[in-house]
Amino acid sequence: MTYYTTEEYMKLRFDRFARRYAYDASDKDSHERWYEKASAALSSAIGLDRCIPVEGAQAQLLDEAAFDGFVRRHYVMETEPTVFMTFYLLVPEHPNGAAMLNPHGHGGAKEACLGFSPDEKTLEYESFGVSLCRRGYYVAAPDARGSGERRERGQQGEGKESQNSHREMLNACICLGITPIGGMVWDLMRLFDFVGSIDDVDERRIGCAGMSGGGEQTIYFSALDRRVALAITSGYFYGFRDALLLQPANCGCNFAPHLYETVDMGDIGAMIAPRPFFIESGVNDRLAGASGIENVRSQFKIAESAYENLGARDNIELHVHQGGHVWVGEFMDDFIDRHLL
Ligand SMILES: [Zn+2]
Repeated sequence: MTYYTTEEYMKLRFDRFARRYAYDASDKDSHERWYEKASAALSSAIGLDRCIPVEGAQAQLLDEAAFDGFVRRHYVMETEPTVFMTFYLLVPEHPNGAAMLNPHGHGGAKEACLGFSPDEKTLEYESFGVSLCRRGYYVAAPDARGSGERRERGQQGEGKESQNSHREMLNACICLGITPIGGMVWDLMRLFDFVGSIDDVDERRIGCAGMSGGGEQTIYFSALDRRVALAITSGYFYGFRDALLLQPANCGCNFAPHLYETVDMGDIGAMIAPRPFFIESGVNDRLAGASGIENVRSQFKIAESAYENLGARDNIELHVHQGGHVWVGEFMDDFIDRHLL
């Protein structure tokens, strides 16, 4: 059978209409003017500017447990009316004044991201977040909307811990002009408010780091909230055309109305400039699309040019490893300590 698909048409539209807010600055002043326009357009595309604040929201402590070198506190906090974010706060024995938000990726939620067993009682491996906490950092790991304790009706129940409701949420959100990723960014902003209010934490030394879907949340959040002092993404920094437009079966939280018409990944990276930004990518990460690591390098160049314009080229790093869609973490500890301590 001959199939008459829309893929060529999607490419044609992308090539004709993409990136209205492409990074085009040449110095600090033009960078700032570009940031104002591009960040407003991106905020609108993902519906962040339509989120509804909750006045005076307080995090409520649900339970806590002691582990070697840290205490894990389990909280719930209302972030929009009737929207509740559950999260873990890892409290270090010897705080160093800095903190890291650690949003999780797909295939689990905050427990899996931090290395805890599904029953939450034991630590199954020394995760990035736990090792950071043992070095003195406060670490906050939320459940993303539609994941973990926040799964919607169709994905609830034992044995479904690795599932999420992002596709269903996208379908529900999109007709209201909002998106899952917009809500996730809003929630990270509220988590930042909470962590920044901790006596032992300096609000100017809070970073955000995540793998895959956690990297996705990290770059949108760090681009749109300039309080974030440092950003780390692993397995999520590639051009939209090959990675998303041509791989539309990816999770619904990757997509937003008018996203491709607004910016590309490198432009979002440029919004993080001049703040420290660490990107990790695997040469065999198939999520980058058919052009592979070149689809990362071309976007990195866009972000890199913003750092150069702001005289901060040393603040952005791309580390390429030989693996696939995995977190390796090499050089990260040093990068974090250098910029947050
Ligand atoms: Zn998702």
